[in-house]
Amino acid sequence: MSNEAWLERSRAAVWHPCTQMKRHETLPLIPVARAEGVWLEDFEGRRYLDAVSSWWVNLFGHNHPRMKAALKAQLDELEHVILAGFTHRPVVELSERLGALTGLGHAFYGSDGASAVEIALKMSFHFWQNRGEPGKTRFVSLENSYHGETVGALGVTDVPLFSRTYAPLLQPGLRAPSPDARLAEAGETAADVATRAAQGLEALLEAHASEIAALIVEPLVQGAAGMAMYDPSYLATARRLCDRYRVHLIADEIAVGFGRTGSLFAYQQADILPDFVCLSKGLTGGYLPLSCVLTSDMVYQAFYDDDVTRGFLHSHSYTGNALACRAALEVLDIFASEDVLSANQARAACFSRLLEPVARHPSVRHFRHCGMIWAFDVETDRPDFAQAFFQAMLEEGVLLRPIGRTVYFMPPYILAPEEMQHLAAATLRTLDRLGQTTATVDSGPALP
Ligand SMILES: *Cc1c(COP(=O)(O)O)cnc(C)c1O
Repeated sequence: MSNEAWLERSRAAVWHPCTQMKRHETLPLIPVARAEGVWLEDFEGRRYLDAVSSWWVNLFGHNHPRMKAALKAQLDELEHVILAGFTHRPVVELSERLGALTGLGHAFYGSDGASAVEIALKMSFHFWQNRGEPGKTRFVSLENSYHGETVGALGVTDVPLFSRTYAPLLQPGLRAPSPDARLAEAGETAADVATRAAQGLEALLEAHASEIAALIVEPLVQGAAGMAMYDPSYLATARRLCDRYRVHLIADEIAVGFGRTGSLFAYQQADILPDFVCLSKGLTGGYLPLSCVLTSDMVYQAFYDDDVTRGFLHSHSYTGNALACRAALEVLDIFASEDVLSANQARAACFSRLLEPVARHPSVRHFRHCGMIWAFDVETDRPDFAQAFFQAMLEEGVLLRPIGRTVYFMPPYILAPEEMQHLAAATLRTLDRLGQTTATVDSGPALP
């Protein structure tokens, strides 16, 4: 069957995420027939370099031999079993290993990032209930934060495009200033911006700590805000403030975990330990939906009791799915046996060098880089910039999804030098091309 046939059937039967479906009257969907390494291939043999790791989930490329072998082996043993009252090898081994890697020895599982955020918020709230502080019911998040789109997670997400419509349903959180390094005024460093933002956080905690259960942050990079990067000192200060004002610190590592920022987990660059760590996306290398909330003995003990209702009675049907846990174990094995973090340093240095002409392009502002994420803002008056850039890059054989006027690369950790070259050259050509054309249509707000 041709591309055309698949996209028509998909348009008729599949309600696609994060999409105004009417747009697909003119903007074609791309049916993917197969994928290999960093390449997606459609039904007519056209290939696209997956420069966003399939929405930030894929770590080691598509059709990975080790990931496939691990999953096939697990299929022969156990695909899934109820986790209430039962347990199994992959979930035990994964929990032990994540505990050893983070120092947070209690792992609770969900299926998506948003469900991990819900779990962390509920656990934090319930912790304070169990501790006899029922007034601590609110959450603080950063300006421009993104923590997922279920009703609880949307309450701590500061993206009006996603939350405004549902405002009457949401428990609105408090917002602390973003430490986004782009907010630096003349003569200020990224660390100065972090200090300034932390002062705003302190004022908020000072005024409201008795009502606040937790602060939730995306460590080092606010992804959906447009890859807003910030100085690690913010996290160190936030940890001290959370301790001083008796507020939990939740690290939402759903996008930045698993080596994205250069360390296995981003919060590690600030030498801190959060009270909760939320993991998903790269957790299974992009193979299966799984999420996990890690927490401390201190939190765990507040629930450990003869009274059933002091326990955490939350559940999801697929919690701790054996296949997904097996995929996550293989991801950890690959990190260890292939020394992925060191290899990424060399890979990142090479790609950064190749991107120098992009960084110097006259329409590029705030070129920034952290680990395996690169981003820059484009000076343009085209209201349809994100969609125009997306389409122009597709013609170059590259999948990129600009967020507003921010273009970013978040490639799998296997990008080869010739693929980097292709990506850098295609980006430069597209910047030149779009710089010369003028705006015609307003395609509406840009989506991540
Ligand atoms: C993607 C993301 C989420 C939500 O994860 P889903 O699996 O899409 O529900 C939450 N927080 C951050 C930081 C994310 O990037």
